[in-house]
Formats: sequence, C-alpha cells, structure tokens
Amino acid sequence: MLQDLIRKKLHHYRQPLSYSDPALPYTATARKRVAVIGAGIAGISTACNLAERGFEVHLYEKEHFLGGKVGSWQFESHGETLRAEHGFHGFFRQYFNLRSFLKKLGADKHLIPIDDYIVLFDKDKKQGFKDLSRVPVMNILDMRRYGVFSWQTFVSPFSMPMIDLLRFDFKKTYKKYDKVSFADFARRTRMNDRMKLIFSSFSRAFFAEPEDMSMAELIKSFHFYFLSNEEGLLYDVLDDDFQHSFLSYCEAFLQKHQASIHLNTPVTSLAKTVTSFEVNGEAYDYCVLCTDVKHTKRLMQSAQGFESYGTTLSALTSLKQTSRYAVLRLWTDRYEADPSLPFFIFTDRLRCLDSVTLYHKMEKESAQWSREHQGGIFELHSYALPDDLRDDAEIRRQLLDELYHYFPELRGMTIRHEYMQHRDDFPAFHTGQYATRPEVVTAVPGFYLAGDWVRMDNCTMLMEAAYTSGALAANHIMRQEGLRENELISVPTKGLLA
Ligand SMILES: Cc1cc2nc3c(=O)[nH]c(=O)nc-3n(C[C@H](O)[C@H](O)[C@H](O)COP(=O)(O)OP(=O)(O)OC[C@H]3O[C@@H](n4cnc5c(N)ncnc54)[C@H](O)[C@@H]3O)c2cc1C
Repeated sequence: MLQDLIRKKLHHYRQPLSYSDPALPYTATARKRVAVIGAGIAGISTACNLAERGFEVHLYEKEHFLGGKVGSWQFESHGETLRAEHGFHGFFRQYFNLRSFLKKLGADKHLIPIDDYIVLFDKDKKQGFKDLSRVPVMNILDMRRYGVFSWQTFVSPFSMPMIDLLRFDFKKTYKKYDKVSFADFARRTRMNDRMKLIFSSFSRAFFAEPEDMSMAELIKSFHFYFLSNEEGLLYDVLDDDFQHSFLSYCEAFLQKHQASIHLNTPVTSLAKTVTSFEVNGEAYDYCVLCTDVKHTKRLMQSAQGFESYGTTLSALTSLKQTSRYAVLRLWTDRYEADPSLPFFIFTDRLRCLDSVTLYHKMEKESAQWSREHQGGIFELHSYALPDDLRDDAEIRRQLLDELYHYFPELRGMTIRHEYMQHRDDFPAFHTGQYATRPEVVTAVPGFYLAGDWVRMDNCTMLMEAAYTSGALAANHIMRQEGLRENELISVPTKGLLA
C-alpha cells in the first residue's frame, strides 16, 4: 500500500538524535557545578536532565516565575486576582521529546486535544483541517478538496518549485532557499490566495512577515509539522494554566533532584576564566546559556574572557529578534455566538489580529471564572505588529476592531479586566540567518547554548526545539563526564523525495 511505502521511506517517522550507551554509568560521582541561565523550556530542560544525573545545578531566572514564554503569573485588577500568560500554546503530537518529558513529570494528563485547526478568512467563512489524511503527500492531495490546489497547480510550470517541499534536506534546502523570502517564493510560483493563507499561518507561527520569512525555514516547518509524520495538524493544549499544569511539576522535579532555583535573579555578569565560568561572581564547571535572543545579545556584549572565541561571540552579539508582537487578554461579559468553534482560531489578518483563543472553553481556571461571572475570556495575538502601529492604545483599538469584524456579536461587550503585552523578544527566522546561527556546542569548552533560536540540524521547532536543544546540551555535558546520554528523537531529517 502507498501508505506503507511512504512510512518505510520516511523511516517509520522517527530518527534518533543521540546514542545512549547502556554500558556507561547513569549518575555522576563527581558533583560538577553547572550554571543554567534562563528558565524557559530550554533552561528547564537542561536543568532537569542534569540535576537528575547528580550534577549540582543552579538555574538562574530574571523573572519571579519559571517558564519564560510559557510562564504564568498573577495580577490584580479591580479587586480580583487573575492570571496572565505569555499566550496560547499548542503541543503538536510530533513534539516527541517535550511530550516524553511531560510524561516523565506526570503532567501529560493535562493534555487535551483541540477539535479542529480553523482559519477564519472572511467574516463568515472558516476553513478547518481535521478531515485531512494524516499520511504525508496524501494530506497535500486532500487539500485539493479545500481549494488549496487544483489539478492545474500540478501541471503549471510555475508550480514546479513546490516539489522542493517534498525534497527537504538541510544542506540543499538552506543553500537554495535561505536567502529567498516566502513572499518571493509565492510570487515566483504564482501561489493562489488560499494556498498563501495556509503558508502564512505557518510563517506567522514564526512571528515573521512574508517578506522577511526565510523560505528554507518555512520548508523545514512544513516538513516538520506536515510532511514527515502521521501525527496530523491537530494538536493538544494544557487543560489549565501553565503554572498548575506544567511548571509546578518542573519545580517539584528540580527540588527532588536538589537543583537550586534562583528566581528574580538576572545574570548581569558572565566571565570565562582559565578553569571555570563566573556567573554573577560564582564559579561553575559548565555554563549553559538558555536566554532568549534579545537578552543573550545583551549579556554577551558585556561578557568577559570570550574575546579569543571571536566567531562564537560575534554570532551571539549579532543575533536578531523579530519585530514586535502583542498579546491582549480580555475578561468580558459576552461569549462568541458559534458554540462549534474550537479553542484556538487563526484569522486571515486584516491589519494585525492573527489569532483568537477562547480561554473559557479551554482552561479550568478560566472556565470557572466564566461560570462565576457569566462571561468569556478571549486572548488576541498579533505575531508581527505593523511598523506604523507603535502605541499600546492604538494596538489595543486595532486588535478589538478586528475581533469585532470576525465576531460581530461581541460588539458593545463590557471588558471587565484586561492584560496587554507588547514585546520584542522572539527569534527571527528571517532570510539569510542560517549560516551564522550559533549551535548547541560552541567553540568555548564547557559553554553550551540552548533555546528555540539555536541551530540544530534536526527537525524540531519552537517549544520542541527549546526542549530538545536543552536536552542536547545536557547530553554533551554527560558525554564530557563519561555518562550515558539520554535518548532523543525527531521526525526524519529528509523529505520523501530528497
Ligand atoms: C504568543 C506566543 C505564542 C506561542 N505559541 C506557540 C505554540 O503554539 N507552539 C509552540 O511550539 N511554540 C509557541 N511559541 C513559542 C514558544 O513559546 C517558544 O519557542 C519557547 O517557549 C521558547 O523557550 P526558550 O526556553 O527557548 O526561551 P524563553 O521562553 O524566551 O526563555 C528564556 C528565559 O531566559 C530568561 N532570561 C533572559 N535573560 C536573562 C538573564 N540575564 N538572567 C536570567 N534569566 C534571563 C527569560 O526571562 C526567560 O525566562 C509561542 C510564543 C509566543 C510568544
């Protein structure tokens, strides 16, 4: 059967990323000190993997909570204590490493499936994808049913470069497409509007405008999310806020393994000495930098003792973040009219609104607020704010206007509470960045990098890349210490026709 042939060609949709030698010891006997800087998913991954093996781990975080972009914190509004997060997050089923970590923590019981992957593209029109075949290539052919392709697409000479989607191969794809933007590719292939919408929803997941987004990164993401596995486009979400459903488990795990968590402790000084690293004046055998691009750049500009590692230093100090994004959460006195809508909806952005999350349908704490107050909790995202939209009040007005365009029944609602975030700390996956993107292992002995922005020649992205890079950094340190590495996997790194 075609399905079996595809599965075989794609190595049963799995590729090992490490080798775990059972002959090697599991736990360290010498208690080496490791500084992990930044407690997002990458830092948590590094810290948990190493603490479990007997390393003396110190996890530094500048905020008063763990989690970075999956952090969750309380705030007061009109006499109520409410909770905000950086924003909605989907756990795709091909996040093999992150999901096995959730399982190990016992937090996987909080994962619940979304009903559909919906894109709203006119006031009254929506596109769902839950009925697509899960088999690579067959899923693409299925898209014909939704008007994404027609038979003409397959015979048009302009569509020929599309075949490169099935030929994903790190070296060749990045060489050919890293300097090409998605917008250029769409023009070159005369992509129809419906297909552009599908690709744009991928490019927006990377917080990039089509003119900036590297086509190589987009081909990789299409391969990772769609063409390398049978997991499908549907994903799971956590059924409660990140603190209750994920971070409290991480904290308990770290405490069980005697790791020290230093919250509210920004690292302001980092130095490489002959034998060790000094982090805020404390000496460590190893240092793993797990900060976001914006703060990595800042920290490395003042770091000392790295001067003789010029390539690493210049790659870190010239990292790029995307332009600004916004997350606005609203506690209101109304619900959306269509009860069949899933928790999370992409929109065909008019000017800035990219997605709407219906928290009252998804998270337990939000559902309880909704029941008690007879209202809905909506979160509005703009993944790339237009340059002329700079002021918070203007951004808020525009997001609300677009919400009312898609949900006219909410017009006139009372906003009881709101929490606005306007940030610029997301890594850029823009054209021409791949060649100089730093990797997990650096030229500086004992100094490693982890985060969703770190280059890894494996197919993981976003949260899965953050978790996997942290686990790979931990594996490298275990290898240095003669310990058995942890098993890590990804989807295959080559496409069906590569
Ligand atoms: C709105 C939004 C929606 C998203 N949706 C999804 C999704 O649906 N699915 C998905 O897979 N991904 C999604 N992502 C991406 C995902 O959140 C990130 O890829 C991932 O969380 C990054 O983790 P990280 O550890 O690499 O970085 P971060 O989470 O950025 O962690 C870096 C940490 O370093 C800390 N830090 C920085 N400087 C210092 C310093 N000097 N000292 C100490 N600490 C410091 C920061 O405070 C932060 O805690 C989304 C992101 C956003 C913003």
